[in-house]
Amino acid sequence: MERMVHIFDTTLRDGEQSPGASLTSSEKLEIAKQLVRLNVDIIEAGFPASSPGDFEAVRNIAREVKGPIITALARAVKSDIDAVWESVKYAERPRIHIVLGSSDVHIQNKFRRSRDEVMDMGVAAVRYARSLCPDVQYSTEDASRSDKNYLFKVIESVIDAGATVVNIPDSVGYAVPAQWGRLIADIKRCVPNIDRATLSVHCHNDLGLAVANSLASIKAGAQQVECTINGIGERAGNASLEEVVMGIRVRQSYYRAATDITTSQLCPTSNMVSQLTGLALARNKAVVGENAFAHSSGIHQDGVLKNRNNYEIFSPEEVGAIGTTIVLTARSGRHAVRHRLESLGYKVSQEELERLHSRFLAVADTKKEVDDDDLRAMMSTAETLIASRRL
Ligand SMILES: [Zn+2]
Repeated sequence: MERMVHIFDTTLRDGEQSPGASLTSSEKLEIAKQLVRLNVDIIEAGFPASSPGDFEAVRNIAREVKGPIITALARAVKSDIDAVWESVKYAERPRIHIVLGSSDVHIQNKFRRSRDEVMDMGVAAVRYARSLCPDVQYSTEDASRSDKNYLFKVIESVIDAGATVVNIPDSVGYAVPAQWGRLIADIKRCVPNIDRATLSVHCHNDLGLAVANSLASIKAGAQQVECTINGIGERAGNASLEEVVMGIRVRQSYYRAATDITTSQLCPTSNMVSQLTGLALARNKAVVGENAFAHSSGIHQDGVLKNRNNYEIFSPEEVGAIGTTIVLTARSGRHAVRHRLESLGYKVSQEELERLHSRFLAVADTKKEVDDDDLRAMMSTAETLIASRRL
């Protein structure tokens, strides 16, 4: 029996912090409504204390978006917590999210206080937030570089103070999957009151491991994952929602977990976020990239045309992609050329195909990709020669 993993989307908060990705209030609302269609569990709508515009955007989303929990970020200070509450309190299910550093690097260089003083700040912030809202999430910023015993003590203290969700961030993308999974397992084993809170993770991609670390945490028992559409976010970004979700889905028996995401909305959501933020996707981006279902070599094209299962571990329909594409290049074989010609309405015999294929290769050698127009041009000259029959 699989556990349900909650998907916490922070595209509108951490994602919007991507350099060059600022969104207007109405664009944020449009994305939030799409996140409802995607069926995420929690939407982090912004950081209201950062600007009046962000405050407004969070309040609009809290008022208009129904279904998911709506949260927003606060530092562990009263004015930030007030700004979050004043903007999310209109939601059906509001949550206050507090973040405070737990590593010595942050404690010494950001706060210039002692460990105990910083822990007291966190506990006081949670108590205050709980006086306003029944759902309070606490993030131990820079957990991956924190002293383990201190981290455990902080987690226990904020749960005692009323935190309902404890989020463990790898804020700087420093974690390694096996070690990070062990940390999550140790938190479950060593923090005595951990069962009273939901355990969450938030991983950054500085070393390209955000998704791997998130999946390792799920394997170790994390119940919530923070991620963003297309993996956008500070610096190299966050764990990509579509990769985490499809990772769990395709390898369900390994993770023994599931999500409530409507996966056929993954590509539409990815396209919307890419267009509105102006952050283009790499063609080879996993799950939602233009090449995710494009097959180029002759061996692969032949294999996938015989049975998609030969070279695809999930279908384009499952993630709302347009479909499998066969990219015709000089490496394409007869099977792929015939398949594309038939999809364009031409019917060719085996004998005709032999001749057409050598013509095709002559065209393919002159360009990177042979498109439908090239094929039509090839056929219009070929038709007079070989009298091929239209379907
Ligand atoms: Zn982050």
